[in-house]
Amino acid sequence: MMRIARLETFSNEFVCFVRLTTDTGAVGWGQTSTYNADITATIFHRQVAPWALGADVSDVDALVDRIEEREHKFPGSYRCRAIAGLDTALWDLRGKLEGKPVVELLGGTPRRLRAYASSMKRDITPAEEAARFVRLRDEQGFDAFKWRIGAECGRDVDEWPGRTEAIVPIVARALGPNVAKLVDANSGFSPKRAIEVGRLLEAEGIGHFEEPCPYWKLEETRQVADALAIDVTGGEQDWDLGTWARMIEMRAVDVVQPDIMYMGGLARTLRVVRMAAAAGLPCTPHSANLSLVTICTMHLLGAIPNAGRYLELSIEGPDYYPWQQGLFLGDPFAVRDGQVEIPSGPGWGVEISPVWLDRAAYQVSELTS
Ligand SMILES: [Mg+2]
Repeated sequence: MMRIARLETFSNEFVCFVRLTTDTGAVGWGQTSTYNADITATIFHRQVAPWALGADVSDVDALVDRIEEREHKFPGSYRCRAIAGLDTALWDLRGKLEGKPVVELLGGTPRRLRAYASSMKRDITPAEEAARFVRLRDEQGFDAFKWRIGAECGRDVDEWPGRTEAIVPIVARALGPNVAKLVDANSGFSPKRAIEVGRLLEAEGIGHFEEPCPYWKLEETRQVADALAIDVTGGEQDWDLGTWARMIEMRAVDVVQPDIMYMGGLARTLRVVRMAAAAGLPCTPHSANLSLVTICTMHLLGAIPNAGRYLELSIEGPDYYPWQQGLFLGDPFAVRDGQVEIPSGPGWGVEISPVWLDRAAYQVSELTS
């Protein structure tokens, strides 16, 4: 039996990497979920590490369950965000021990993956969004794009008046046929307004309508899914497996979108993947930034039978997400012909930049005996 002997974090406000070392000296690298990652690092050392230190590394599911039970008074996002750091480090460790990429541990093989270019911007005009999409289509070969409509938790009030009605046809028509078109409302609409917008989406050839209604109102989302022919999708915020079971059982969405890091790692995400597969639903995970979440999602999509059509790949750069710069050596997100490559090295197959790690806040928890 190999045991967890040391858990180190390297964090700033946005990102927290985890280095796990076993009692035999083997090492795995993971990451907690992004944003408020400094707070997550504190939770990691306070509420995750004490239960993980000394534990056997071979059964991720059992360890994650045990930590959730020990910390059952603290359910929710932060606990999952912190556990994701442990889970992803354990998968990396296992890959390194077996000399295999995680995609192979899951039964797949490293290969090229179609990506959709995912915009994170609402403060962008329809014309500017269309122009940068066309540039990405022509220069990088993307054939799938997602843009934003409505306003985040907007209660039917648009980012500015008329933006949704303008940006849907302008971007859709600029991209032309043979391009998959996706939109995201980020919990912006009532069912009535969502269905009305959905008719416009249907008319303009959009095939994926993400998070039309407040995500916690599953019945409202189901109303929209029932009314529209196009795929209604969602689940990125959800971490609770009971909610997932209900969402899938009631067919609130046509496509499930768990976020590996919000879920608490790969082991818990695989449970959602299996539930969805049993219900005949595809899984197109949420991976909205260029940290380890998108790498982990590549490995997952390369292996699961109900993988959706594409990987979410953020197109935002240093102007919007400066914190994403310089996390990894090389460019694991390089795009060719609209595709990325699942890393083939052991574990996650990426190397975290030593320069970035040097600048991060350091904390350690370790076995004392
Ligand atoms: Mg979304």
